Amino acid sequence: MYRSHNCGELRATNINEEVTLAGWVQKSRDKGFIVWVDLRDRYGITQLVFDEERTSKDMMRQAQNLGREFVIQVKGTVIERASKNPNIATGDIEILVTELNILNQAILPPFTIEDETDGGEELRMKYRYLDIRRNPVKENLIFRHKVTQEVRNYLSNEDFIEVETPYLIKSTPEGARDFVVPSRMNEGEFYALPQSPQTFKQLLMVGGMDKYFQIVKCFRDEDLRADRQPEFTQIDCEMAFIEQEDILNAFEGLTRHLLKEVNGVEVEKFPRILYDDAIRLYGNDKPDIRFGMEFGELNEVAQHKDFNVFNSAELVVGIAVPGGNSYTRKEIDKLTSWVKRPQVGALGMVYCRCNEDGTYKSSVDKFYDQEDLSKWAEATGANAGDLICVLSGDTSKVRAQLSALRMELAERLGLRKPNEFAPLWVMDFPLLEWDEETERYHAMHHPFTSPKPGQIELLKTDPGAVKANAYDLVLNGNEIGGGSIRIHDKETQSLMFDYLGFTEVEAKAQFGFLMDAFQYGAPPHGGLAFGLDRLVAILGGQETIRDFIAFPKNNSGRDVMIDAPAPIDDEQLKELSLKLNIKS
Ligand code: ASP
Repeated sequence: MYRSHNCGELRATNINEEVTLAGWVQKSRDKGFIVWVDLRDRYGITQLVFDEERTSKDMMRQAQNLGREFVIQVKGTVIERASKNPNIATGDIEILVTELNILNQAILPPFTIEDETDGGEELRMKYRYLDIRRNPVKENLIFRHKVTQEVRNYLSNEDFIEVETPYLIKSTPEGARDFVVPSRMNEGEFYALPQSPQTFKQLLMVGGMDKYFQIVKCFRDEDLRADRQPEFTQIDCEMAFIEQEDILNAFEGLTRHLLKEVNGVEVEKFPRILYDDAIRLYGNDKPDIRFGMEFGELNEVAQHKDFNVFNSAELVVGIAVPGGNSYTRKEIDKLTSWVKRPQVGALGMVYCRCNEDGTYKSSVDKFYDQEDLSKWAEATGANAGDLICVLSGDTSKVRAQLSALRMELAERLGLRKPNEFAPLWVMDFPLLEWDEETERYHAMHHPFTSPKPGQIELLKTDPGAVKANAYDLVLNGNEIGGGSIRIHDKETQSLMFDYLGFTEVEAKAQFGFLMDAFQYGAPPHGGLAFGLDRLVAILGGQETIRDFIAFPKNNSGRDVMIDAPAPIDDEQLKELSLKLNIKS
């Protein structure tokens, strides 16, 4: 038996017991006649004591030579500490060691294994196994376990079953590039790793598994914008014989369960907002509604004066910054520079101070009188003491710019509180999205998403206006899940492929299996997938998904610990019928 107790377990009630512990040396203090060692494992820290009077000379010497991160086993007696440490759970006791076994030595770790470490991100990733010994990382992994456990509990209780789907498949269109795997047995042919199990879960519905879920890895080869991983985990779900309302209720239920069990937070029924309204009010399809600052459109009240910047703009739109009237001129200038940075891209910013006495003072007073400005205040919901920030220009650009400003200001004002949770559904996404690069419409969600009833005809005349039975679940300004009611008949699915620019031959080659399946009695179905990594991070009150993944990749998609990706040798290439460096 390596240990009778763990290092977080012993209390004053255990005094005088003989125990065996094993773990890592966190640190030791050597006073010559007495040595204290902090012994650490996953559960906590227990203090060991060796002293001249009661410990043999040999053991004393051994104890003095214990280095950080040595793996040791000790036997000893639990005794009361002379000076107690109220900061740790085992702080009332210590172990008077009677036997010491060094199980393994350790070289000096490249960074300190402490809550606050001196190791930078790259170094910690290279030695991630050491990083995992640190409390913050360890606790995140335990937290993630708790979330996945609760997901499984909830969905199993609701009669969902977890079914595994294959990783070596054919492309699934989720809008990214595929990672591909060459097949040795099928020369010149490749599998694709799933961007999601989308088609398989639909086939499970055809197979009669009417409530499916899976906690599953997905793989997308995309340029890694901030905080994305090439492999990530979804809670993937699908249901048959349901309407949109059933899906929303089922997964609102799951989210509410998680908030309650994991965070102890009870949330009211989730608000719902139409995609178009989210864009109009927040400039964003994943609005953070923990705070207000909704957009106020000002075209009617700000155009047709003599201010040409506004007159020539497609949209003039503003937000009220709570308490913003206290900003100095310099601070407002800084804000203006902030929105003019290339990352945001605004041409400038007009502002209006809402003074405590009910008067207004704007940067464009030449063109607008007090009455005009009071209308700005009304449209943006500004009160005395606020500052109205106004941007103008091309509608979609200006909305995105103001959305960026809204989030930045909320951050600065401390309105994005990590322990406050504001979920909402964003509904009725457009079915298609125009892609500037390929000059074609693409499925905004994926090509299996059904259009709103009666809108299929509109595809011919005004494709961009067609709305889908598609919804996203948004939490604190992050999309944590998304899904749709699917097309479940062959004709509509073929039509959809046709509109998306697939020839009949291409559609058959890529998705013939699905359309074939639809001919054998496909039930109406729909579903959604949650991004588990992000969900866990948000529930954990943090932003970075990497902190909740045991072995994450860096921004170039590399695992710096195992040094992957890596070249393969010629023999392997030959076996796979591959040749490198073929330039087109
Ligand atoms: N497969 C979709 C995704 O990965 C989710 C869904 O439609 O269920 O985003």
